[in-house]
Amino acid sequence: MRKDYYVQDKFVLIPYNANTNENFQNIINQSIFPYELKDENKCPYCPGNKQFSDQLVLSFVVKDGMLQRLYDSQGDENEDWSIRVFECKNPIVTTTPNHEYSDKPFYREPAYGYDLIIIPTPKHNESLTDLSIDQWTNLLLVLQDRVRWLYSQKGVTYVAIHASRGNKGGSTINHPNFRITTFSSIPPIIEKEAKTFHQSMNENGICPACNMIESEINGPRQLFTTDSFITLVPWAPTYNYEFWICPKRHTTFFSKTSQKDITDLALVICSSMRGMDAVLGKTDFSIAFHISPEKKNSRQLHWHIEIYPLLASWSGLERGFGIYVNLPNPEYSAGVLGAAARKELARLIGII
Ligand SMILES: [Zn+2]
Ligand SMILES: [Zn+2]
Ligand SMILES: [Zn+2]
Repeated sequence: MRKDYYVQDKFVLIPYNANTNENFQNIINQSIFPYELKDENKCPYCPGNKQFSDQLVLSFVVKDGMLQRLYDSQGDENEDWSIRVFECKNPIVTTTPNHEYSDKPFYREPAYGYDLIIIPTPKHNESLTDLSIDQWTNLLLVLQDRVRWLYSQKGVTYVAIHASRGNKGGSTINHPNFRITTFSSIPPIIEKEAKTFHQSMNENGICPACNMIESEINGPRQLFTTDSFITLVPWAPTYNYEFWICPKRHTTFFSKTSQKDITDLALVICSSMRGMDAVLGKTDFSIAFHISPEKKNSRQLHWHIEIYPLLASWSGLERGFGIYVNLPNPEYSAGVLGAAARKELARLIGII
């Protein structure tokens, strides 16, 4: 049995025969996400479909290789855009909630927050894994910009950046999209991780992520490293073929990542996700940015990105007991994902 680097309340079991992919291949083949367009004319995020859209907040265009903001008046009409930010029409949190409170056993508080959708490409049939390095760079810059703005707003304690592909990830629309949802308190998984970071930093001055990276670098679970990032399959993954991307140097604010590192990150995301597609087919997945709650000093963490391929369905053990079975084992997954990701990396930087 293995335990997570940071939180102790998750058990990961790896069966003794879990060192190959054999038992898994049929599951992989079944989970290829169909990309054919069901109703392109009604997609709210395709150019020209304004009548179906959520509220447009921002519109950007790439001109001479630079990301430029279109003014609101132009934004609505201009069909020549590269990235758009919408306010979700059916939000799960809102800045105008009902002020309903109640106590146990029917505890309730208002779900206050912003719910944004970021569309990184006008092309409906592209997948997030098809985005180029430049598109990823621009998307990351827009995410940084929104994170900065959101953390400056009242009632925003946490900014959750996430995305999914396919039904298993809960994605209801094929058009590639990222979502930013804010909360007035810290989400449970972030709270648990950040608490561990705070305790360790306070007690012995050691960041658990820096410590983990030092132990994992060039080890059997590393996919590859660049100047500023490492990508690896964690020691105790929740999902089969799960992998993480972490800054190698200690850094707590994603929003303060330099332009140079953002370009490096775009390359790392692009290579590792295309590697994932090469190994698993265009499987459903979710991606979560574990960034710090910037306003709360006692809950800073070494930020990182977690990617969860959604292959096998969970059993009663996962759902009912918090015990996760990994098949194949993390070292095998890292081997195949790493080989495929390094090939994509070489292709992207023009070595092959
Ligand atoms: Zn579309
Ligand atoms: Zn650190
Ligand atoms: Zn995490």
